Amino acid sequence: MRKIGIIGATGSIGSQAIDIIEQEKDDFQVIFLTAHNQLDKLIKIGKKVNAKHLVLTSERHHTDKVLTGIDELLKVIENEEIDIILSAAVGFSGLIPTYCALKKGIDIALANKESMVAAGRLLNETAKKNDAKIIPVDSEHSAVYQCLLGHDTSYLEKIILTASGGPFRNRPIDSFEFISVEEALNHPNWSMGRKITVDSATMMNKGLELIEARFLFNVGHDKLDVVIHPESIIHSIVAFCDGSYLAQMGVPDMKIPISYAISYPERVKLDIPRLNFFELKKLTFIKPDFERYPCLRIAMEALKIDKNSIYIALNAANEVAVDAFLKEVIKFNEIPMIIERTIEDFPVEDVMDIEEIVKMDKLAREKSRKLMSNII
Ligand code: NDP
Ligand code: MG
Repeated sequence: MRKIGIIGATGSIGSQAIDIIEQEKDDFQVIFLTAHNQLDKLIKIGKKVNAKHLVLTSERHHTDKVLTGIDELLKVIENEEIDIILSAAVGFSGLIPTYCALKKGIDIALANKESMVAAGRLLNETAKKNDAKIIPVDSEHSAVYQCLLGHDTSYLEKIILTASGGPFRNRPIDSFEFISVEEALNHPNWSMGRKITVDSATMMNKGLELIEARFLFNVGHDKLDVVIHPESIIHSIVAFCDGSYLAQMGVPDMKIPISYAISYPERVKLDIPRLNFFELKKLTFIKPDFERYPCLRIAMEALKIDKNSIYIALNAANEVAVDAFLKEVIKFNEIPMIIERTIEDFPVEDVMDIEEIVKMDKLAREKSRKLMSNII
């Protein structure tokens, strides 16, 4: 019986994890589930999987039906015996509980890529010190993780992340300023939360994933690449120094990497469509165009600097800008502008202390909000 907790249980990743756990009832004991605002949904899914604790992390709610506030979540993590936590909140907010779990030596199934972007070095060190594993949930990183198992990484030549290219792969670039929220939320291959769906449209999602890969697999920018693969069948590729390539394939369904991460090293039998190679007419691969996807260029430039104050600024500015786009405060093509200007002249340093990281994130958010008020 694996004792599991889920941060962000009401979201897209969290809900799919709940379905898997319901199916595999005999293998999981749910110690806690969290939501941020959706109290009713939290209570409903809590009953479904017989969760021991329910926590609503937003401080705005006052209810005695469940525990409330981040401190209550940290207490549960501290006091309960837990084998693995699925970290699936959206954004920087996932960092503190993920860090505290690693500090206690709890394995993490990591969906919350933003925490790895902002604090990759610290999370890696904390995991190592406390003998905890970080197993990726992101489909690309799960693919790389699976391809690297049993291989000596000193022979690794390249990690090639695949990207769908999002909904605007063929849209004329001069019309990007007119992209509506509805259009940006209409992803061709994956159904996901709102923030990551916009990130996929700007391709900042792939930028964040490159930084996530930099820390998960401990590789420099020269070993990281991106290829657009619109069919989303190959989830990523690793290349070795003898010219050999390994790739992981499957239908685009997040249940595959979620179940892999929470059950590792075992696997779950999933009732989802299989690949039909006779129906797969062709797999295509396209070079990403930085004019179309400036966010990807910005992330690749940040990787060359490789200081985490820059990663923190990039992530914070992106969160602020995407939120403003979703509220129709800024235009789609203004998202990369805000990010680039936030990074410009931002302190360049490696911050390893958790409190310093939180301060740096706040500073970057303030800067991007100020920049935004100048353009609107
Ligand atoms: P959703 O927006 O669907 O869900 C987010 C979850 O986090 C919800 O449970 C939400 O609670 C909770 N939450 C929201 N704000 C906060 C906050 N400030 N503090 C704590 N919890 C909060 O997101 P996704 O499931 O799509 O994504 C979650 C993470 O997984 C992201 O980091 C994303 O990049 C990553 N990921 C997602 C993929 C996908 O297919 N969706 C694929 C790969 C990675 P409530 O419902 O109450 O608002
Ligand atoms: Mg991904």
